[in-house]
Amino acid sequence: MTVDEPTVGGSLRRSVPLAGYTTYRFGGAASWLAEPDDLAGLAAARAAATHLGLPLVLLGRGSNVVVSDHGLDAVVVRLGPGFGSIVLDGGTVIAGAAAPQPKVARFAVERDRGGIEFLVGIPGSVGGGVVMNAGCFGSDFAEWMLDADVFDIEDGRVATRAADDLTMSYRSTALTDRHVVLSARLRTVPQPGGQGRERLRQITRRRRLSQPGGTLNAGSVFKNPPGDAAGRLIDAAGLKGLIVGGARVSPRHANFFEASASATAQDVFDLVAEVQRRVDRHSGVWLHTEIRFLGEFDGGRAR
Ligand SMILES: Cc1cc2nc3c(=O)[nH]c(=O)nc-3n(C[C@H](O)[C@H](O)[C@H](O)COP(=O)(O)OP(=O)(O)OC[C@H]3O[C@@H](n4cnc5c(N)ncnc54)[C@H](O)[C@@H]3O)c2cc1C
Repeated sequence: MTVDEPTVGGSLRRSVPLAGYTTYRFGGAASWLAEPDDLAGLAAARAAATHLGLPLVLLGRGSNVVVSDHGLDAVVVRLGPGFGSIVLDGGTVIAGAAAPQPKVARFAVERDRGGIEFLVGIPGSVGGGVVMNAGCFGSDFAEWMLDADVFDIEDGRVATRAADDLTMSYRSTALTDRHVVLSARLRTVPQPGGQGRERLRQITRRRRLSQPGGTLNAGSVFKNPPGDAAGRLIDAAGLKGLIVGGARVSPRHANFFEASASATAQDVFDLVAEVQRRVDRHSGVWLHTEIRFLGEFDGGRAR
């Protein structure tokens, strides 16, 4: 085996464009992409990354990331359908990390279980949701998650991590780049399916009314600062509609940044930096990003 051509159960591909794997639809290629369907495949991807001297970088459904135009010199791992199962065990939903969050919400409702309907509004995977404690409308993973199975990239072990031990708070957990979420166990409460379906409809309707549907975006760009809303601060600074290259602050929801078909990842990076500067000047608040920048950008690291 040469350094250039590791064998990883046949699932490792070279120079794979990542744009199609993200909601922004831009960004460069991964040097290597692995889509393992089981733990052995994931361990093989880890071994390949070690062999190649490259980092292992996780990608879920790409709905919260900006992938650099220069691509990622890494072994990018996107958990395959083998990690997408959803089952009900008593009142607990056990969802694989690759399962889309909206599918998990519908799965529970169809089985007369409630509580996790909020997931219907979040287009990411369960793994991506756990790692950043995704949430909306006053609910988040921290409220409903019992525990998660986590693979440690450094030592190759799997551990069940109780939610209480993950320091889960607003869009934040103790999980870091060395952790791969494999699955999560979510508690639910009994609820007639009719009520659940109505709740799903309400959430979907509210999302449609407030978000710039039909545009390329990655959801909220910034975390809300304590006691305020990032969108309100951006709006107050007069930045709705601000354009940098092919990226603009959504005229509909100021905390969403839309990309045109010709936009680059650097455009979004630069727009983020410009908005941070102008909001700071206007209101004295430094906004911190919720979206994650993967790879290299001109101008350093987004904060
Ligand atoms: C229209 C729209 C609306 C949205 N609304 C909301 C909302 O209401 N609330 C909210 O919280 N978010 C929202 N988001 C953002 C996004 O959907 C969530 O953050 C989601 O949880 C990200 O999941 P993902 O699979 O897309 O992760 P990705 O975007 O692929 O990755 C995000 C981060 O998670 C890491 N990651 C992904 N999978 C794993 C894994 N299995 N193990 C370890 N790390 C992993 C990645 O390395 C990356 O750092 C929205 C996005 C869009 C486009």
